[in-house]
Amino acid sequence: MRFGVLDGRAVVVKGDRAADVAAASRWLLPRDPMALLQDCWPRVREWAAGLSEAAYDTPVDPVALGAPVPRPRQVFAVALNYPPHAAEAGFTPPDEPLVFTKFPSCITGPHTTVALPAGKVDWEVELVAAIGRETYLVSEDRAWEAVAGLTVGQDLSERVSQLQGKPAQFSLAKSFPGFGPTGPVLVTPDEFDDPDDLEITGLLNGKAVQHDRTKSMIFSVPELIARLSAVLPLFPGDLIFTGTPAGVGNRMDPPRYLTADDELVSRIEGIGEIRQRFTAPKTSDR
Ligand code: ZN
Repeated sequence: MRFGVLDGRAVVVKGDRAADVAAASRWLLPRDPMALLQDCWPRVREWAAGLSEAAYDTPVDPVALGAPVPRPRQVFAVALNYPPHAAEAGFTPPDEPLVFTKFPSCITGPHTTVALPAGKVDWEVELVAAIGRETYLVSEDRAWEAVAGLTVGQDLSERVSQLQGKPAQFSLAKSFPGFGPTGPVLVTPDEFDDPDDLEITGLLNGKAVQHDRTKSMIFSVPELIARLSAVLPLFPGDLIFTGTPAGVGNRMDPPRYLTADDELVSRIEGIGEIRQRFTAPKTSDR
């Protein structure tokens, strides 16, 4: 199932058309995507599998799609999860996942314009896993069962505030308004031939700057879920940004940061792409 949010309403997407979950179920299922994830995700999947073609009666305007999980309770993000990116950042691959948060207010939809804050804003294309059931102490071999679906994300990062201080702290620098775009849809794991091996690409102004496959990750999606759920419960709708491949701007020579009028496209095989444009910093003498 390809699950999306169109004009604020939960939809199931097929090709370029969508079925409105609440209307097509005669209001047996809620219109709110968070209510669906929290209370009836298995029912939605079962119901969607039996939908007729006629139910897909709404054209999908990609620009009208919102974040497929608009109000996650917890957002986890993982640093240095691809060996080439760990190397370019000057680190040996970690033995334990390096986890920080993107505060949930930064989560947005797939097509957005982001006002650049002061500093140096960088890109990080990432696979994002959304949790589909309350999960605590799950083993790695059962962890895919906890996943509602996969989506594309950008872990936008302001490097000056991220790297200042000893030790550095990541979470605030990665949580400016609009710094967590996600979408275009949430794709259930059964839709992929192999959900552990997806091509992932980041393009800046049409040129590929990041490119890898998710099987390169040091900690796979199920391993991350097992390790996180060994510590704390995961809830339906929680998001996990799983780390970025090599090719971020601050490791280029010379470094390249996002400027006004840049366009970033982030793409993952089998899911789709998200698109961000950037505007100049808001002038203020804060
Ligand atoms: Zn990241």
